[in-house]
Amino acid sequence: MPVLLLKSLIPLSFTHHWTALISSYKQPLQALSIATSLTLGIAASLLAIASPAKALQVLRVEPQNPKLGDTLSVVVQSDNQDNSTAPSVKMGNKTYPAFLIGTNEYRAFVPTSPLNQAGNWKMVATGDGEVKNFTVNVRSRSFPVQRINLPPGKAGVSATPLELNRVAAFKSLVTPQKFWNGAFIKPNAGRISSIYGVRRYYNGVFAKDYYHRGVDYAGGYGSPVVAPAAGRVVLVGSVAQGFRVHGNVVGIDHGQGVTGIFMHLSRTNVKEGDFVQPGQLIGAIGSTGASTGPHLHWGFYVNGVSVDPTLWRSSGLN
Ligand SMILES: [Zn+2]
Repeated sequence: MPVLLLKSLIPLSFTHHWTALISSYKQPLQALSIATSLTLGIAASLLAIASPAKALQVLRVEPQNPKLGDTLSVVVQSDNQDNSTAPSVKMGNKTYPAFLIGTNEYRAFVPTSPLNQAGNWKMVATGDGEVKNFTVNVRSRSFPVQRINLPPGKAGVSATPLELNRVAAFKSLVTPQKFWNGAFIKPNAGRISSIYGVRRYYNGVFAKDYYHRGVDYAGGYGSPVVAPAAGRVVLVGSVAQGFRVHGNVVGIDHGQGVTGIFMHLSRTNVKEGDFVQPGQLIGAIGSTGASTGPHLHWGFYVNGVSVDPTLWRSSGLN
């Protein structure tokens, strides 16, 4: 399996770049149609009964039995009439923005990873000036383990400040628009040579901060790499510019905190600012950067954390 030695894979602090969702909508007044045949006075009292102060509610959390590596989709209902602030979901010391997905319905993605502790996660939804506590049971999962032996002094290539900064900025992107639609397609036709979440021992010592932050595809050298979903190309880097670890690289912003990075490319076919559709050619498999053989590393990130794209590939999160 191609070996990656990525200092850039150290979790990066999550910065809040999202902007408050600006969108106006009117809550439908269902009581009105009933009320039209009644006198105004009665209609007014009906409206008062039909609009209790229910405000903030946690409607659902998916998937139903989440395990480490999954993306938690938290849907909350908020009746905020002026809609000045979208709700958010807090887990630990991280706050995740929720985005409007339907009438009065907002969704936040809470990432989980092999570095997290399984168990009952206590979360807090905030919105409408209200706070709702809820608990999600996140199950444990066993990830494959690799044992790597490195000769002394061969710690591998380290990333340049340029690539660290560019990639960190890329992963922290949270744009309010949702660009993807439905399930993601595979970015390369080759077989998967390394799944998400593989843990490692280096010279017998467990690397407690390491996990394979992506999925590797063993397509042949020069085979097409395509966008798995629609999005904006926001990062195109090259070895010549200093992308020593990532190699030639493309980063796509799928919106609402969902991003994908495509590494070790032999060439890139897009430029920053391009909008790509699913299946559109973005580059070709190579072995540039810290790579020991031709492969694609697809890093899939939700709110700055590398999560398992499997669910996004199969059923999709829409
Ligand atoms: Zn990889």
